[in-house]
Amino acid sequence: MPKKILLIQDDPSDVQAVREALILSNDGAFQVDSVGSCSEGLERLANGGDRKADDIAAVLVDLSLPDSTGIETFDQIFLAAPAVPIMLLSAAKDEDIARLAVERGAYDYLLKDRVDNHLLPKILSSMIRCAGNAEAWFQEKERAQILLNAIGDAVASTDIDGRVTYLNAVAEQLSGWSNEEAVGHSFEQVFRIVDGDTREAVPNPMMLAIRENRTVRLTPNCLLIRNDGSEAAVEDSAAPIHDRRGEVIGAVMVLHDVSAARAQSLRMSYLAHHDSLTDLPNRVLLNDRLTQAMALAYRHQTALALLFLDMDRFKYINDSLGHAIGDRLLQSVAQRLLVCVRRTDTVSRQGGDEFVILLSELTQAQDAAARAEEILLALHAPHCIDQHVLHVTASIGIVVYPDDGVDVETLMKNADVAMYHAKSSGRGNYQFFEQSMNDRAVERQSLELGLRHAIERQEFVLYYQPMINLTTGAIIGAEALLRWRRPQLGLVLPAQFIPVAEESGLIVPIGRWALREGCRQARAWQNAGLPPMRIAVNVSPVELRAQDFVMDVRAVLNETGLAPRHLELELTETFLLEDWQSTATVLQELKKLGIRLALDDFGTGYSSLSYLKRFPIDTLKIDRSFMRDLMTNADDATIVSAVIGMGTSLNLRVVAEGVETREQLAFLQEQSCIEGQGFYFSQAVPAGEFTRMLERGIVIPA
Ligand code: C2E
Ligand code: CA
Ligand code: CA
Repeated sequence: MPKKILLIQDDPSDVQAVREALILSNDGAFQVDSVGSCSEGLERLANGGDRKADDIAAVLVDLSLPDSTGIETFDQIFLAAPAVPIMLLSAAKDEDIARLAVERGAYDYLLKDRVDNHLLPKILSSMIRCAGNAEAWFQEKERAQILLNAIGDAVASTDIDGRVTYLNAVAEQLSGWSNEEAVGHSFEQVFRIVDGDTREAVPNPMMLAIRENRTVRLTPNCLLIRNDGSEAAVEDSAAPIHDRRGEVIGAVMVLHDVSAARAQSLRMSYLAHHDSLTDLPNRVLLNDRLTQAMALAYRHQTALALLFLDMDRFKYINDSLGHAIGDRLLQSVAQRLLVCVRRTDTVSRQGGDEFVILLSELTQAQDAAARAEEILLALHAPHCIDQHVLHVTASIGIVVYPDDGVDVETLMKNADVAMYHAKSSGRGNYQFFEQSMNDRAVERQSLELGLRHAIERQEFVLYYQPMINLTTGAIIGAEALLRWRRPQLGLVLPAQFIPVAEESGLIVPIGRWALREGCRQARAWQNAGLPPMRIAVNVSPVELRAQDFVMDVRAVLNETGLAPRHLELELTETFLLEDWQSTATVLQELKKLGIRLALDDFGTGYSSLSYLKRFPIDTLKIDRSFMRDLMTNADDATIVSAVIGMGTSLNLRVVAEGVETREQLAFLQEQSCIEGQGFYFSQAVPAGEFTRMLERGIVIPA
């Protein structure tokens, strides 16, 4: 393709000279288009000189034309096609003007009378090539600019002295400086980067890159402080810039705003270390803190304690009132635990209804006991959730580092063992771990295993203890009491296995068996012609909470043929307190069957008399602990009198448990308490022996 040259020249001999120089001697490298005036030239350029169209590769122009002369000619042509290189043809006398035109953008000038066939094509070729390079460089720079402003990272460059030479748009935003403002300032002035922890300025990475001639990464966790004082988390690297000879002439730095990513990762780490329901630290975080606290305690030769807390009977609240209420109860418990500890302690939720509290500054083990007591007390106050008023207790196991273990695992395990020990010694209390408990934990396991098979192996029996009319001495009823004949181990009393049976849920089938057996025996005595009397069967709260309890009682009555009025179920206060609405429903349904209900162990729990009115209770059994000190403790005597009086006024039968002496009997008779039960009359005995007692009739000893 020949290069098209626009020749603007009015003198025909000059036109001819150029044509000859370019065409004749150059085998088609150039094509010459010539016009005779400036206006024609402008027209040609307008039609196709503008890079896009029918390319004019270069303009050769005489500055004196018929319609324009001097510098003006150049200015007009240049304006019309700034990208096309212009060579001037000048008369020797106009050389000054030609020089001025070169200053304003012309490529160069030739003297008209010196146009040389050999030189002209060479000069034009070089001019066209040069213009092409300039254009390519311009485009390259444009492209780089667009790219730099399009990327999401801040890019800044400096010269070798660390003075800013360039900021892209993001760098302007990030630093708060505009490119114009920043250029010439030192990099540290424009970008104040500090260590996120120490808040000290970090060494200027640009200068490092320049000095060491290598890519430098910022240390992690850096903050950029903006002009307005606000901060952004940044990550970046700086690299040296080299010239063509490989010498360092400056540096470029890419900064990345990681505030959002860092916030996100902080959030993730928070979630991984906290329980979502209560917002307390979780197991993972507790382990961390415990490990740390142990290391510190080891170094300072101090102690720390771990309190393993498990809610009592939480499962029943969850099952009967639903998980939403259960969750709210756990939140309420978490709140109260937080109030009980110091800032240096950690309250964590392990999952379910288990919490672990780390007391990290412990002067003496007794402090842990005091704290456990405080916690038990705090949890004891009623929790009001929706319309429910929930009374809960918890059991706590305590271990002390280093006495009870020197690693997380052993401490946790032993705390758990101590907690179980607290459960089996009546719940609502705390226990320190003792080595012997581990033996007991093993024993507990074997107990549970034995209980699983005890029913099918027919190892349970019922013993019966008479209930006596204190004025006549007649047997008016029998309380059925469970005994476990354990192979090789002999007779096991309920206190030893009922807690384990309740904890494992095995109490449900065991209790059903006792109910059926008690009713069957009562019916058998009636069938044998003995006078009808009531049979009292103990029922655990766990059984009452189990589904279908009412249906099962009805089925047992049908099956055994015992009249409902002869059956009395003995319930404990703790059950009544759990959630009175659902409790009331169950009790009402039981009453509809026609059976009687007794409140057992009255006086040991909360003994609120007000709830007695709320529930359909027939009988009140005064706990035997009152009987024990009756003669020596005036308070106990007063309480017993008050309970008897109140029971009578509420139309309840009152039964005094644990009558062991003649004096106790005399006191009760004086109080006109009509019924009693205790070793003074008889222990609980097997059915055969009880039959003989029934046949003899009255049992009041002389
Ligand atoms: P409880 O319902 O308070 O039963 C009375 C307990 O006091 C019985 O102990 C009985 O032997 C004992 N006792 C009776 N008179 C006297 C006395 O004068 N002095 C003394 N010191 N004690 C006396 P036992 O049979 O060991 O039962 C203990 C507890 O086990 C019962 O307390 C009851 O809560 C529970 N239990 C027994 N059988 C069953 C059962 O079939 N189902 C359920 N769920 N619990 C049962
Ligand atoms: Ca009882
Ligand atoms: Ca009792």
